[in-house]
This record gives sequence, C-alpha cells and structure tokens, in this order.
Amino acid sequence: MKSNDDSRAGHKAILGRLSDYFGFKLSENGSVLSVENVYCMTNQKAFAYHRSNTSLIHHLQRAHDSKSDPCVFIC
Ligand SMILES: [Zn+2]
Repeated sequence: MKSNDDSRAGHKAILGRLSDYFGFKLSENGSVLSVENVYCMTNQKAFAYHRSNTSLIHHLQRAHDSKSDPCVFIC
C-alpha cells in the first residue's frame, strides 16, 4: 500500500490488471464522467477506452519508460 496516492483521488480505477495505472475521472458528486475516456493516474493523460488495453499498455511502456514488464499486463 502506497501512502502517496493523491493522484487517484477523483478517479475510479478501471477493471483488470491496469487498475493500478488508469482510472475514469469522477465528477464532483462521485459519478463517472465518461466511460469512454480513461486517465493515466500518473500523469493525467487522457485516452479513449474501447475495452482493449493495448493503447494503455503502449502508453505505460513508452511514457513510463517500461518500468514494468509488459507481460505483467498481458499474460
Ligand atoms: Zn502516464
């Protein structure tokens, strides 16, 4: 458990293995603003979300310098 997770405030984590990295943005009343857009909780970059995690994994690999083995997300 990390104590420094302020970036997750205001987000609802997506389902699956990428839930630690991406979330849906919440409105002030706590409802999901759009299920078609997810946000990287590290740098707040927005992505179109079409059930596939492929583009999200690419983002982690490229923008986050491949700190994690991609097999963690896919396998
Ligand atoms: Zn990111």
